[in-house]
Amino acid sequence: MSAQPRVLVTGAGGFIGHHLVRRLKADGCWVRGADLKFPEYEASPADEFELLDLREFDKCLLATRGGIDQVYNLAADMGGIGYITAYLAAISRHNILINANMLEAARRNEVKRFLFSSSACVYAQGKQKDANVEPLKEEDAYPADPEPGYGWEKLFAEELCRYYRHDYDMETRIVRFHNVYGPLGTYDGGKEKAPAALCRKVALAKDSGEVEIWGDGEQTRSFMYVDDCVEGLKRIMASEYHEALNLGTPELVTINQLLQMVAEIAGKRIRVTHNLSGPQGVRGRNSENSRTRRVLGWEPSIPLRQGLAVTYKWIASELRAVHSSQKQPAEKVSRK
Ligand code: NAD
Repeated sequence: MSAQPRVLVTGAGGFIGHHLVRRLKADGCWVRGADLKFPEYEASPADEFELLDLREFDKCLLATRGGIDQVYNLAADMGGIGYITAYLAAISRHNILINANMLEAARRNEVKRFLFSSSACVYAQGKQKDANVEPLKEEDAYPADPEPGYGWEKLFAEELCRYYRHDYDMETRIVRFHNVYGPLGTYDGGKEKAPAALCRKVALAKDSGEVEIWGDGEQTRSFMYVDDCVEGLKRIMASEYHEALNLGTPELVTINQLLQMVAEIAGKRIRVTHNLSGPQGVRGRNSENSRTRRVLGWEPSIPLRQGLAVTYKWIASELRAVHSSQKQPAEKVSRK
């Protein structure tokens, strides 16, 4: 590998991709970002940023050209539970195309390492029926019974990474993220996840106001702050481990507790209403990190309350800026 690693981040206009580009640049890498869009909230520090539709094979060849050492393949059509349960066909088709074309283009352009961003949505639904869930080990993805659409295409793309390794000796890495949150992430428009959505709702609510939660709020999840996510991505890429690894925290909370935490951070009393017809996904999901600890000698550890405080502050200030018209939403798009 050259002295200054040449790295491609796909999905570099998105939440995790943008944070990863910042970290890779700070660590001295040469970085190309590729995405359908520029980052929404600040300019990308990437050396090159190309607007490419990676569902198309020739665009994947372009993205991987020029002696790229490492690819972090983060591009995906995805969103929160409302989004991924509504668009099963489109999400599956888009992401299958991106992943199959990116793997083949990386192989043809002799990329040295290829990291695929999978998801905890690959885990068998039957093992996530209890809010007090047994944390999920990597082997719990089989026998396969993943989330419809998004979970199935992620699980198949994991398999595809294994096939490329088997047939072509390609160096692939597979990361299963568990709910990532933090500043500079989508917080409105339908693609936002629970932590960002709750921060937005609380920031917009009056003291003693009401906030709606989908389901009875007793469904459980763990949430990983984006700095831990980026650290884990770098460590997994550098490791010699080829099988899937969980990247998440084992700090399990109910969605009601998550809302309570945000309300406390905001210093507001909030009344909860439960929309029982809203989508809520599996009943419980948590990350079991034995394998991650063994392979990386490390695991995500930033406490939820600490990460949420930073996230809330950022979302509240964005909303204040938009609402006071000092900053119109259209101006949020920064172009490099
Ligand atoms: P994001 O939506 O913010 O970023 C994904 C980016 O991919 C977007 O900027 C989008 O424009 C881009 N993209 C979509 N289709 C594209 C196409 N055809 N060509 C080029 N770019 C395209 O999502 P994120 O939270 O940053 O997630 C990054 C990766 O991590 C995704 O693969 C996602 O499935 C996975 N993941 C994320 C989470 C999480 O909690 N954020 C959890 C599990 C898995």
